Amino acid sequence: MATLREQIIALLSQKECSARVLSQALGMSEKAVYEHIPHIIKTVSAKGENIDISPACCLSCGFEFKNRKRPTPPSRCPACRGERIDPPIFRIRGVRGSGQGVKP
Ligand SMILES: [Zn+2]
Repeated sequence: MATLREQIIALLSQKECSARVLSQALGMSEKAVYEHIPHIIKTVSAKGENIDISPACCLSCGFEFKNRKRPTPPSRCPACRGERIDPPIFRIRGVRGSGQGVKP
């Protein structure tokens, strides 16, 4: 049996996912997904792979939350105070050529 973290890593290695997609795929809460993310970043880095995080951004004004230390999305935009925030998107990219030649 793969652990939840291994399942998250497997999903993120196949395609980019938001925490919502992961939570639905694995039957867990989004909050739980966000709690796993820092550990997953460590695990993935230790294997010599990279995790890409597209920062959360405000749907109203386009403000990007690039400097957030935590992966959780903010509840409100500091620039326009909008509450429609696009969540961060996660994707694991292997650096050992094990992927399928995915390039930007
Ligand atoms: Zn905004």
